[in-house]
Amino acid sequence: KTDIMAGKRGLIMGLANDKSIAWGIARALANAGAELAFSYQGEALMKRVGPLAADLGSDTVLPCDVGDEDSIDALFSALKDKWGTLDFVVHAIGFSDKSELRGRYVDTSRENFKTTMDISVYSFTAVAQRAAAMMPEGGSMLTLTYYGAERVMPHYNVMGVAKAALEASVRYLAEDLGKDAIRVNAISAGPIKTLAASGIGDFRYIMKWNEYNSPLRRNVTTDDVGNSALYLLSDLGAGVTGETHHVDAGYHIVGMKAVDAPDI
Ligand code: NAD
Repeated sequence: KTDIMAGKRGLIMGLANDKSIAWGIARALANAGAELAFSYQGEALMKRVGPLAADLGSDTVLPCDVGDEDSIDALFSALKDKWGTLDFVVHAIGFSDKSELRGRYVDTSRENFKTTMDISVYSFTAVAQRAAAMMPEGGSMLTLTYYGAERVMPHYNVMGVAKAALEASVRYLAEDLGKDAIRVNAISAGPIKTLAASGIGDFRYIMKWNEYNSPLRRNVTTDDVGNSALYLLSDLGAGVTGETHHVDAGYHIVGMKAVDAPDI
């Protein structure tokens, strides 16, 4: 336990349930003394997010659909009224039509390409615009990405293209906001069984492959991601910006199947 986040306030976007990566991050931040606000998409999720937020001592739970500019404005205006300023933001949001997270990338439709880019990429920039305006003393922003941005992964398809764009936008945002002492980073997480991941074809196989072939010979947990997020969002990460930090049990350094990997 640490109090490294004592006195810091931040917004967590993308909490759906207790399997969410956002939940691992929120827990690590709250355990380190941070004060948290949460945003959720759609009334149905409020029932889950409200009690989880309460578990971490937060009663600030606000709706936000990142596909809608007015909805993002309403969220940040409510936060401004409540807190005035913000120290950090976590963007743990992605979306693509499930039917295109299997089969071939070449078959991606224009409509789903646009939606995937809008919700999974542009929304982080839209959030950064509003959050930066509430960070007069500087701050830290974090988004979530996956190795499918860098290398072809089965079924990841248009989401891989979107994550590549998201990682590039992290670098551009880091340059634009760096002069204002605002840091912008991404965590590239290994596969974790969440609601969003359940939409990806053969996800169990991908999890097994990662477990057998990553240097640590295991999958990562939302706690692993949360603890690395704590470093990037706290002053421990003060010298780090524009970075895509892999929290994937080392999988991204591997060149081929491990000699001891069992058949799947
Ligand atoms: P999750 O399903 O728990 O979270 C995804 C969240 O995105 C949900 O809370 C959902 O409500 C939100 N969302 C989708 N569309 C939205 C919209 N229009 N407006 C507001 N919110 C919206 O799954 P997760 O795996 O925790 O996903 C969090 C992030 O982590 C995503 O960006 C995902 O791509 C990324 N990621 C996941 C994995 C994995 O294996 N699970 C690996 C690497 C990166």
